[in-house]
Amino acid sequence: MSHYQKPPELYDGLRLHQNENTGGCSPKVIEALARLRADEIGFYPPYAQATDAVARYLGVPADRITLTNGLDEGIMALSVAYLRPSVADLVLEAVVPEPAFEIFRFDTAVAGGNLVQVMPKPDFSFPLDDVLDAIRPRTRVVFLTNPNNPTGVAMPLEAIRAIAARVPSEAIVFVDEAYAEFAGVSFIPELETFPNVVVGRTFSKAFGLAGLRIGCLVGAPDTVDAIRRAVPVYSVNIAAVTAIQAALQDLDHLKNYLRQVDESKALLYAACEGMGLTYWKSSSNFVLVCAGDRTDALVKGAFARGVYIRDRSTEPGCAGCIRIGAGIVEHTRRCIAVMEEVLCAAP
Ligand code: PMP
Repeated sequence: MSHYQKPPELYDGLRLHQNENTGGCSPKVIEALARLRADEIGFYPPYAQATDAVARYLGVPADRITLTNGLDEGIMALSVAYLRPSVADLVLEAVVPEPAFEIFRFDTAVAGGNLVQVMPKPDFSFPLDDVLDAIRPRTRVVFLTNPNNPTGVAMPLEAIRAIAARVPSEAIVFVDEAYAEFAGVSFIPELETFPNVVVGRTFSKAFGLAGLRIGCLVGAPDTVDAIRRAVPVYSVNIAAVTAIQAALQDLDHLKNYLRQVDESKALLYAACEGMGLTYWKSSSNFVLVCAGDRTDALVKGAFARGVYIRDRSTEPGCAGCIRIGAGIVEHTRRCIAVMEEVLCAAP
């Protein structure tokens, strides 16, 4: 299994290829960071207040929250905690409905687990029966993403309940809710009833804090305990701790971004229809567009004009597909103009 290939470090154009908030964080975050004192930076960071703020935002008691250095760290920690073989030769398994966030695949390999991929349906509706069939006695993690990346398609909460009821007693169901703000749906209210489900959240996307690296895991204290042991102490730094508290005090900034995401998606759908490109309706801040044999020309042509969009052709079920960020309306308009220009110029 090869390693994760980070997208190239492109910061001089319009970044619509990593699902970031291209409008950035709330100005309240910048003000709070500017107020950080030298002694606060000199000390190891305290987590209680930031954890309380996140718990209030998510509507759960604070003992259900573990802050992590981006959700990426939470995913690595849970992979290590649940997939590392405890007995020699007993290879544990992770079930991943594809296409999925590639990190699940790489972290499973790092932890020494075996990946069981479930292939997608053409419309990307959730393949519940196939996922249930893939669960075996050695399954320890089922990786779900709602709404999904790279498709943007949401899955029914009923499917999460059915999977949680089917997995072995030593296993967890991980529900990655990196894009939950855009869908307005979460499994968090059900965690009380399903102690074997762990939800992951990030503040990289809707809150525009990707550069500071902060996310969290939410779950029953006993379930999350094993994962906590695999999270390095003090991995979340003081800037992230400060930023998240300020960001959660400015939910108007979030609301404004969510409104722009809805408008951007409507613009992008209409533009795709005009250009004869198919797409999947997204519950997220990006849209998966099928450009078929025009994919390469479109991605390279946009790149040459300073707009970065992500070729997802090699992901299972995504032949000819491009994932395009749909956030700040002005940026979406620029992307659409560039796409139209490239397709008109193409032979
Ligand atoms: N899960 C999914 C589905 C994602 O798309 C991403 C970011 N690309 C992450 C987790 C990781 O988020 P973070 O920036 O918090 O590490």
